Amino acid sequence: MNQLYWLRTDLRVADNTALTAAMTAGPTLALYLITPGQWRAHDDAPCKIDFWLRNLAELSARLSELNVPLLIRTLDDWREVPALMVELCRTHRIDALHANDEYGVNEQRRDQAVAEALRQDAVPFHRHLDQLLFAPGSITTLAGECFKVFSQFRKVCYSRLSHSLPRSLPTPAPQRWLAMESDPVPTSVEGLASPDQSLQTYWPAGEAAAHRRLQTFAENGMADYQSLRDMPAEPGTSQVSPYLAAGVLSPRQCLHAALVTNRGELDSGNPGAVTWINELLWREFYKHILVGYPRVSMGRAFRSETEFLPWRRDPDDLTAWQQGRTGFPIIDAAMRQLLATGWMHNRLRMVTAMFLSKNLLIDWREGERWFMQHLIDGDLAANNGGWQWSASTGTDSVPYFRLFNPMSQSTRFDPDGRFLRRWLPELATLGERDIHNPHKLNGLFADVDYPLPIVDLPMSRERALTAFRQLGEQR
Ligand code: FAD
Repeated sequence: MNQLYWLRTDLRVADNTALTAAMTAGPTLALYLITPGQWRAHDDAPCKIDFWLRNLAELSARLSELNVPLLIRTLDDWREVPALMVELCRTHRIDALHANDEYGVNEQRRDQAVAEALRQDAVPFHRHLDQLLFAPGSITTLAGECFKVFSQFRKVCYSRLSHSLPRSLPTPAPQRWLAMESDPVPTSVEGLASPDQSLQTYWPAGEAAAHRRLQTFAENGMADYQSLRDMPAEPGTSQVSPYLAAGVLSPRQCLHAALVTNRGELDSGNPGAVTWINELLWREFYKHILVGYPRVSMGRAFRSETEFLPWRRDPDDLTAWQQGRTGFPIIDAAMRQLLATGWMHNRLRMVTAMFLSKNLLIDWREGERWFMQHLIDGDLAANNGGWQWSASTGTDSVPYFRLFNPMSQSTRFDPDGRFLRRWLPELATLGERDIHNPHKLNGLFADVDYPLPIVDLPMSRERALTAFRQLGEQR
């Protein structure tokens, strides 16, 4: 009974539901599809694609220890997948296809098309819950609807988890040798830019590297997470997001690491561990929203009335924001961190997103796209959720009148300017007070190549508030 395991964003052998199910059912081949046109259409960042390929190379070695050959095929987009699957299943006499579920609209449509195509040959396609702790649609209100408010969603999650914790699966035992070689894993994809080599040092590939990071955080960082998580100069968060997004780590492995630190307690005990588990549930929440309200996966606002906001089209302001040249040090440092590392601190994702969508009144979709094109942890659900939260267009999002002031965020969360100095070397000589607002120096600063603020904060705040208020009046 030959099995085909189709790898997607689940690049690991340990605690992998579909791989384990396939290998339990019979001799297994693994398959990975390289789909450059589709990745481009989804704005997947070159650094993320490079990360996938580096992890795939590590995974190929681990699969070969299990005697699972890895096939690699290149197609331009997902429309070609059903025909390829039929052909592969026929060639390799496959009796069943297995994959871990993915939740975007296009991913779901692709999988339905594959299931239909294989039906003609009576090959079942088993899709497994793996990327999440709970299947979308299984955490609902009493009326059977998807929760729109995180705190209520979380309450049900806690109650379920306290009754039964999802188990982490061990790495499957090796199968017998199938006398088949694996395909070589490419190191780059034609037509997609290669990211800076330094990213490979920031983000080493493979399950061992991912577990080292998770373990180090669990042992040394988790206890202080609640107090340090908002300070971008500190290594106060886990930085496991790229590994979770690519499935090099599973959410169950993360949850169990937190539970070990917190002596088995979920929502009491160490406040750092409790807050961190809460973040894992935000990840869960946004994926449930994606499935429950597919319009958010198609570029629509969750709150449809906000589609009428009078977004400004201002390519110069947009470019200044993208390149970290707005004249607001905290915004610029954050945007440069993103360009240099493919990652941005969570507090700063909120601050920069709110600056673009509120102070510049530029459509949040521009920012969502830019983040996706540059994030190594780019994830449709979390990115869309974070953007719609910041722009006050989403479910359970920040009220429109709670605008962050970038200057006060800067002095509050980077009081000594250490983060600013790291990313804005041109400001490095300024003192602790001036570095947050260099233009207050009134010309003393004229020989430094740093832009003037591109917007007046009080004016832009009023402009955003008016835009939102008028929306209310129009209804
Ligand atoms: P930690 O603080 O250590 O948290 C642990 C894990 O919990 C993270 O790795 C992540 O998987 C999850 N998590 C934490 N916060 C959130 C959150 N608010 N929403 C959903 N999941 C969360 N996260 C992504 O993984 N991919 C994205 O594309 C993404 N885009 C974002 C865009 C905006 C505008 C905002 C405001 C947030 C975005 N986030 C995204 C959420 C969050 O910023 C990152 O998950 C976090 O910064 C990753 O760093 P970490 O691994 O150190 O997180």
